[in-house]
Amino acid sequence: MKGTQNKYYIVCEDLFKIYKIAELEVVALRGLDLKVETGELMAIVGASGSGKSTLLNILGGLDVPSAGQVVVGNRDLLKTSSRDLVDYRRQDVGFVWQQTSRNVISYLTAYQNVELPLILLGWSIRKRRRRVEEMMEAVGLTSRSNHFPDRLSGGEQQRVAIAVAMAHNPPLLLADEPTGELDSQTSETVLDVFRSVNDVYGVTVVIVTHDIRIMSKVNRVVTIRDGRTSQETVRKVQTEFVKPEARIEKTHDEFIVVDGAGRLQIPRDLVEKLKLGRRAVVLMEDDHLVVWPVESQEGEEK
Ligand code: ADP
Ligand code: MG
Repeated sequence: MKGTQNKYYIVCEDLFKIYKIAELEVVALRGLDLKVETGELMAIVGASGSGKSTLLNILGGLDVPSAGQVVVGNRDLLKTSSRDLVDYRRQDVGFVWQQTSRNVISYLTAYQNVELPLILLGWSIRKRRRRVEEMMEAVGLTSRSNHFPDRLSGGEQQRVAIAVAMAHNPPLLLADEPTGELDSQTSETVLDVFRSVNDVYGVTVVIVTHDIRIMSKVNRVVTIRDGRTSQETVRKVQTEFVKPEARIEKTHDEFIVVDGAGRLQIPRDLVEKLKLGRRAVVLMEDDHLVVWPVESQEGEEK
């Protein structure tokens, strides 16, 4: 239904993605659950190979999951035809990639880069000019409008990329390692632009990264491990009021994600400390659970 505002813009439930290469199967997502609120600015972190890009490609309609549920806006992406997915990608999603060369076209100026998607969508010249100027201002690059990408710094190119991605005012902005090639100070400036467009346009923003410094920039960070959401960190207080050295510890609450089936991932360091093997006993104690490792039997597979 159009016009109704859902609380969640993204709902993934028990999502699986299996890649088949010849005889080999790679399970990139194994029962992933994720909800993102409409207008939220959040990040997904995780080691390389944990399934971050796979998830983002599915959310952006570039890839289809093998099983499970994924609803974005009011659209069930598993039931969307490939033709409708093309429309979805063009109209409802903005992408920012790690490589600037994938985001901007080198022989077009910054202005022309931002204008291009609007030409493809058939916007009139007047409407285009107004929007491109607005976007260049939104990313703080008005004075650089007529520069070609090779005259811009890496951070400026990524800011142009955000302007390109936001030009047609999509409800969803996806970024895959957008600061992966930038130094930390430049990264910060680029992340601030994501925050600002989220604030000004109310766009739902999902940023994938392996850089945990993202924690000081977004309200919620979800950790993916082995293709499943495992941990969630939620900001408690405004970081502006906290000394930088105390930020990560004091300003966030850490949670382990419990999925719809009651599964949770025990943090790896605790698994090692406890010498947790294949089996454990879980007991209820008052209002909490206790987990006991069970020694493996002889002859049992590890
Ligand atoms: P991340 O972005 O967190 O580094 P990816 O989503 O790229 O992780 O990859 C998750 C897993 O899926 C990895 O084991 C990767 O090798 C595999 N994978 C990703 N894309 C493909 C593909 N197109 N074909 C086969 N395997 C893939
Ligand atoms: Mg990746």
